[in-house]
Parts: sequence; structure tokens; C-alpha cells
Amino acid sequence: VEMAEIGSAKGPTGEHRIILRYADEPDYTPDIDCYLRHGGYEQLRKALSMDPAAIVAEVKASGLRGRGGAGFPTGTKWGFIDHAKNRKPVYLLCNADESEPGTFKDRQIIYKDPHQLLEGMIISSYANHAHLAYIYIRGEMVRGAQILERALAEARAKNLLGANILGSGYDLDIFVFRGAGAYICGEETGLIESLEGKRAYPRIKPPYFPAVLGLYLCPTIVNNVETLCNVKHIVEMGGEAYAKIGTRNNTGTRIWCVSGDVRRPGYFEYDGGAITLGKLLYEVCGGIRDGNRLKAVIPGGSSAKVLRAGETYRIRRANSEGTMEEIEMTLEDLPLDFDTIAASGSMSGSGGIIVMDETRDMVECLNNLSAFYAHESCGQCTPCREGALWMHKILDRMAEGEGRPEDPQLLLDLSGQIAGRTICAFGEACSWPVESFVAKFREEFEAKAAQERKEHERLQPAC
Ligand code: NAD
Ligand code: SF4
Repeated sequence: VEMAEIGSAKGPTGEHRIILRYADEPDYTPDIDCYLRHGGYEQLRKALSMDPAAIVAEVKASGLRGRGGAGFPTGTKWGFIDHAKNRKPVYLLCNADESEPGTFKDRQIIYKDPHQLLEGMIISSYANHAHLAYIYIRGEMVRGAQILERALAEARAKNLLGANILGSGYDLDIFVFRGAGAYICGEETGLIESLEGKRAYPRIKPPYFPAVLGLYLCPTIVNNVETLCNVKHIVEMGGEAYAKIGTRNNTGTRIWCVSGDVRRPGYFEYDGGAITLGKLLYEVCGGIRDGNRLKAVIPGGSSAKVLRAGETYRIRRANSEGTMEEIEMTLEDLPLDFDTIAASGSMSGSGGIIVMDETRDMVECLNNLSAFYAHESCGQCTPCREGALWMHKILDRMAEGEGRPEDPQLLLDLSGQIAGRTICAFGEACSWPVESFVAKFREEFEAKAAQERKEHERLQPAC
């Protein structure tokens, strides 16, 4: 499903839109003339007059953390390349594979404001001494790829790409590479393998991260779409000013995608930690659909652990003076930022907030997720390949009324044998939902496991 049609809730939302500033403006179009009329490529001119190292320093000072899911500091990642010693080409890869269930932010940027991404990429490539960059876009996002191809042609025609960009002496070209619609192509080393023309089998890391040995074993910076867009704004306002947006360690704005059982799903942009989960769900998204009660939330895309309504968390975090304090919070109290959501035992990941109301059957919800992971495992390592499928088979028969009393514990044992024993983070991604759903809704899983399938259903032929 192409999600461009999903609208952002309007009204007293208190949003601070930097990246999505024009996302819902009907007169704003993705062509270059519109972008230039709105001050587009001014920051590229500014950046090209700066020393690349000065841009890296601004990005470090901004505190920008990766928006793809892991929240790794972007400036630190860029700093891993030692340009004084490096003799190999450097590549910049934009990860636009956006495949995490519940996440639909990057495609909004691509559909509506592709030049914002290109400007961020050109500045980032310049800062990292890259002369070739790729946008790896999810295969299903056909329209997104077309929009980007057109935007690249427009940028080339205006000498914003190609040789001697704007007379600066700097050369760069960017190409779009379409994936084939596999989740694992969004894992950065799987993405690199795919770009090299191979099957997207993730590489073992550590010891070697892409910043050291990436595409064609050359230093490679892999950043997410939203992350790269932020770079333009950091150049504009300066790293220190950017760091004042949001909270310490959660600087800048973040885009949250809300889907599931709320009245007004959509994408929203807030300063780091500026809005609580409760306010987002009840005030901005209009509350839970049909007047139902909230049952559970997955705060960071389907790979994150589920949080149950009614739970409380003891959150240790730095206050505005920088001293650590511990506060008790309900699910609704949690401010949306990397650190608080991590302290609740889950993660904010790629910002995909999936909401489930009281009518949801948690076995069926988890079965739905497990079908995805069983299908998407690349099959390279045994615990993930066999475990993801086995967990799905158990959940599927539970959902069909063929559960066994030992199933909930078996699911927990299995998920515990996968996380930490695989090549890539998919192992955690497929086992954390299972672990958290079963642990937090154990009574539902036990009831389902004990449920006898009715005799007449047993006699139906399996389809
Ligand atoms: P990671 O923590 O292994 O790495 C994060 C980034 O930091 C990577 O680019 C990595 O190369 C770099 N890095 C970390 N340590 C480094 C070091 N010592 N030296 C050099 N570079 C270093 O996480 P990951 O496996 O890249 O990503 C996992 C996240 O991806 C999950 O949290 C999940 O939320 C997210 N995810 C997002 C999507 C999506 O559609 N946006 C899809 C799947 C997963
Ligand atoms: Fe492939 Fe799963 Fe192993 Fe990742 S953990 S390399 S997806 S089999």
C-alpha cells in the first residue's frame, strides 16, 4: 500500500515541523522550481564554501542521532573515516528501504520533498569526501523511485550534481537503486551486498562496520532518509543551535508514524522528548477508535518490545540540569525520545508507533508479526531461519485453536535461543516481539493454548 495519502492530523498539535514542513501544503510540489522558490539549495551553497571537516564538526555538535532505528550518533559515524590516511573511494548510501512494519515517514519526504533529501545527501557526501552516492529504495516504492529519478535529473540540469558542482570544484553523482522488496535489504550490510549485485546476506559486524569496510570494501556511510535531511538544517542553523532543539541526547525533531487503533493515524514531527505518548495518542490522534480502551503499544516499529497499558516504569534520566533522577511513569506519561523509550524496556526504533485497543486478540496480533518475520528471514543463520518459522507455526496453530498447554513457555524458550545468536539484528527483531507479547499477555496465550478447537471445525479440510 502506498501511504502517501495518509494525512497528518491538524489542529492544536503543537508540532514543530522542520523536515515535514511542507508535507501537507497542497501548493508545494516535488519539482525543483518549487524547492528553489522555498530557499532550496541555499544550504548547499553555504556548505560548499565550508571545509568538509567543519561540516562534520557541526553535525557532531548537533548531537544528531540516526533516525533509521538504532539512534547511533551521526557525527561519530562520519568521524570513523580517517581522510588523512584513506586512499580508497568513499561512498554515501541513503537507506530508503523503509521496511519496518509501522514505519512510513521516509516515503512522505520522498514523495513530497525529494530535493530536501538530495540537498542533505550532497552536503553529507561533500562532508565525507564521497564522489558517488546511492539511494537504495524499497522495490515496492515505484512512485518514490520515479520521483527521485526526476529530481536527480533536475539537479543535474542545474549543476547541483555532476562535475564541478556550482563551480566549487567538487564532483558528485547520485543514483537510485531499487531493491527487490526484501526486509533484509534495509539492514545496512545486506543493503551493501545487494548493491554489489549479490544476495542480501548481512555481514558480521563487528569487527568491521561499513564506515571502515563497506561498499566494495571501501569506507561507506549509510544513513537513513530523515537523518540526511536533518543535515541541511544543521548547516543552516549551526550544530549548537540545532542541539538546543529537543532534550540533551535527544536533539532535533523526530517524525513519529502512528498506525492502528486510533481515530486519526498519521505522521507527526515533534522536538525530541517534547510530547508524551498519551498526549500524542489522545490529543493529537483523537484517542482510541470507537471509544475503546488502549490495550498495548509497540513504540518503535514491529521489532520493538510491546508495552502494555496500565504498566508503570521507573525511568532514570537526566533532568534539565544534567543530574540523573528516577521517576515513575505510566505508559501514557512516557516522553517520546530515544532514551526514555529505551528505559521503558522497549525502543523507539524507526518511530513507528503501533496501537492496539482492547478488542485485539494478542495471539493473533503476534501471529501476524511472526508471519512477517518467518517470511523475511534471509535464512543465513540457523537460529533465525528455523526459529522464526517454528515460532510462527506454533502461533499459527494457537490462533487456529490447535494450541497446546506448553506453547507459551515453548515460545519464550525459543525466542530466548535466537536473540544474540545471529549475524544481524533480525534475530532480536523476530524474537523480542514474541518474548514481550507472551510475557506481558501470558494469560491470553495460556487461555488460547488451552482452548479446544470445536469438533466441526476439526473436520473442515485445511486450506
Ligand atoms: P547498529 O546499532 O548495529 O548500528 C547503527 C549504526 O551505527 C550502523 O550504521 C553501524 O554501522 C554504526 N555503528 C555502530 N557501531 C559502530 C562502530 N563501532 N564503528 C562504526 N560504525 C558503527 O544497528 P543496525 O543493525 O544498523 O540497526 C538496527 C535498527 O534498525 C533497529 O533498531 C531497528 O529499529 C531498525 N530498523 C529500521 C528499519 C526501517 O525501516 N527504518 C527496518 C529494520 C530495522
Ligand atoms: Fe539472515 Fe536472520 Fe541471520 Fe540476519 S539473523 S543474517 S536475517 S538469518
